[in-house]
Amino acid sequence: MVALLSEMLKILFLAGLTLAGTLAIRILAKNLSRKTSYLRIFIQIMSQAFLFYLIAFPLWLSLVVVVLLLATLFFGRFFCGWICPFGFYMDLVSMLRQTLKVRYLSLPESVNRFLHELRYLLFGVLLVWPLFLVNYSNLPNSSSVIFLSGPFNPLRILLAPLVPVIAPWQIFPNSNLNFPYVDQIVYYSNDNYALMAVLVFVGLAVVSSFLVRRFWCRFCPTGVSLAIANKLSAFKWAPVLHIEKDGEKCTKCGICRRVCTAQDTSVYEQKGGRIDSSMCMLCLRCVEMCPCEECLKVKFDGKTLLVSKNWLEPATEKL
Ligand code: SF4
Ligand code: SF4
Ligand code: SF4
Repeated sequence: MVALLSEMLKILFLAGLTLAGTLAIRILAKNLSRKTSYLRIFIQIMSQAFLFYLIAFPLWLSLVVVVLLLATLFFGRFFCGWICPFGFYMDLVSMLRQTLKVRYLSLPESVNRFLHELRYLLFGVLLVWPLFLVNYSNLPNSSSVIFLSGPFNPLRILLAPLVPVIAPWQIFPNSNLNFPYVDQIVYYSNDNYALMAVLVFVGLAVVSSFLVRRFWCRFCPTGVSLAIANKLSAFKWAPVLHIEKDGEKCTKCGICRRVCTAQDTSVYEQKGGRIDSSMCMLCLRCVEMCPCEECLKVKFDGKTLLVSKNWLEPATEKL
């Protein structure tokens, strides 16, 4: 019965993804002005489907991590803006908030910066912590290294955002539901309090991402590990996807600052040139919404992929 339910959940999940994908293609085909946002939703949905199966197998999971780190050298934090399942989940919660016409809260600039700095500390702790847990006499057991189990389990926290909200294995008996970080909370909790700890975490995650856009991303250690991979000077030759600003065309309207889900102000504040910010998740929302013709550009390997358009002025008035 449980197995049947599990299969039905998977089929429902894939059917939902297919439906959402078809809708996204139809929206794109209609050539709506917010094409980039719709394309992003479509890619986020497809990535969920892809990871849904891949993440269940440790070997594939290891491969996914290697591919992600390599891709980050070329595409920056594209993963955070376009693929990360937890990021997508937070975007869905934000869409619900928009539908209910509730205004988001903005964190004070100093708090936002503090959380971003905190990411580096969390990342450092996660890297160092396993070194104290390893029983070095057992180190030849290399499977623990490869599959991030045993003493290397803390490093799995870095992979937690990859867990699709519904995953094909069980956390609680008779249930197929999962949520990012729940695995780790259960692993480190006392059995008596695990369920309570999970419920508190999920509750906080839902409420915080409802009120503050991409709240977890403000201090996520996974995001910072990708930002660091992106900044490795040894790989400066890589043709990184990035945003460029033409300062002379900027009217300081502030739209790019308002639409940024990470509350990154660098596009607004920087006078011009390449935007080089570790907060930026390359969602490209600022480029899509900037109302100044060719003020912002998305570049990859010297080629322009997307430019901002004057969408405030109706096409007829431009003639
Ligand atoms: S910062 Fe973390 S949670 Fe946010 S999108 Fe990146 S990996 Fe996912
Ligand atoms: S949205 Fe464009 S024009 Fe407005 S402040 Fe940002 S970069 Fe300048
Ligand atoms: S700066 Fe622009 S591309 Fe980067 S996260 Fe903010 S809105 Fe997205």
